[in-house]
This record gives sequence, C-alpha cells and structure tokens, in this order.
Amino acid sequence: MSDNAQASDDSFSPNCVRCPRLAKFLVRSRERFPDYYGRPVPAFGDSNSALLIVGLAPGMHGANATGRPFTGDHAGVLLYSTLYKFGFSNQSSSTSLADGLKLIDCRITNAVRCVPPQNKPKSDEVSNCLEYLRFDLKQVKSGGVVVALGRVAHEAVLKACDLPSRSFKFGHGNLSSIKFNDLNLLSSYHCSRYNTQTRRLTVEMFEEVFENARNIVDRMPQ
Ligand code: SF4
Repeated sequence: MSDNAQASDDSFSPNCVRCPRLAKFLVRSRERFPDYYGRPVPAFGDSNSALLIVGLAPGMHGANATGRPFTGDHAGVLLYSTLYKFGFSNQSSSTSLADGLKLIDCRITNAVRCVPPQNKPKSDEVSNCLEYLRFDLKQVKSGGVVVALGRVAHEAVLKACDLPSRSFKFGHGNLSSIKFNDLNLLSSYHCSRYNTQTRRLTVEMFEEVFENARNIVDRMPQ
C-alpha cells in the first residue's frame, strides 16, 4: 500500500496520552500556540516501503506545529534535500502538509511521537512509544533499510526488535544486519541544528549514509 497520507498505522492514536509528562506538555503547547497541530505526530510516507527513517521526536516548532515528521524545522532541511537527491522524494523541501511532498518507497517516523521538553524524552517515554515503532518496522519490506538518526533512535529500533543494544553499537555510518525481517540498520548522527552547525555532521557525511541506503534498496529484488 502506498498512501503518503498521514496516519495509516492502525495501532496509532493521535489522541494517545500514555506518557503523562508529554501529554501535559502538549496541553501547554496547545495553549501557547493554538494554531499548531499540537498532538502526537503520526508517521509519514509509504507503509510498505524499502526505507524507514527513525528520528528522535517532533520539534516544538517543526513537526509539532505542522503535524508531519521533520516538516517545518531545521533538521528537515537537510533530511528532505538528501532524500530528494537519492530518489526517495518528489521534492527537496518540506514546509507544510499542503506542500505537495510525496515520499518514494520511504517512510519517516520518530522514536517518540510527542514533543518532549528540551527535545529530551525520558527512557520510559521511549518504551511507551515502542509499540508504534514496532508497527512501522514490521511494515518495512524484507531486506530493507532502517536509518536511525541518533543514538536514542538507534537504541529504540533495537529495543523494538527485541535485540540487545550492546550487540549493535551506535556509530555514524555503522551498518548492521538485524534478525528482524532481514532488515539493515544504518545509524547516523541526527541532522539537528546543533550537529550541523558544529559540523559534527556535515552534508557529505549525511549523504554517504543515504547513498549507502540507496545502494542497498537498489539491490533488493523487485
Ligand atoms: S510519546 Fe508515544 S506513547 Fe507517549 S503519549 Fe506520545 S504517542 Fe503516546
């Protein structure tokens, strides 16, 4: 199924309040910014894709405002231009739900679907959200690629697959074959403003990860 619509995962509720701290934070966010989307953000893209990208959590003025992962925030600028460069989207930028963006054989989600204070989810909040991540991982085509943006996303993917994190160390560009639907886990530094402005992550480093993902996807049987 190729939907590119917003909420297509049958387990996910945009009214989820399983994490009390985050639910309260969302109430405050809706009061402060009544025009924002202000709820748990669903995954976006094809539900049966070869590539799944897992970020950390919605940004307050990005996905929390627009309702779509990485849309309208700084981290999305590099992510969406890179996806376009490697043939995973129909356009290079993402500004709002009405921008015409479509992902191609690709889906984007977050380890935690509600905006957390200071962009820092707690470990129990990551655990609470694993069910939704597991659903997304099950939708990836067998032999496909999961790009985890940052250590929290990397460890959440392993947890969702019931794999011990010590067996698959996080590192930029690390590639691991995991025994969950024969998936390939590619790790990357998160494309956050902090990482790109400090040059911990350069455009070239980020593109190498997606070039690798593209090569793996292109070798998959049709
Ligand atoms: S972070 Fe996930 S589990 Fe927690 S309230 Fe939001 S959607 Fe629900």
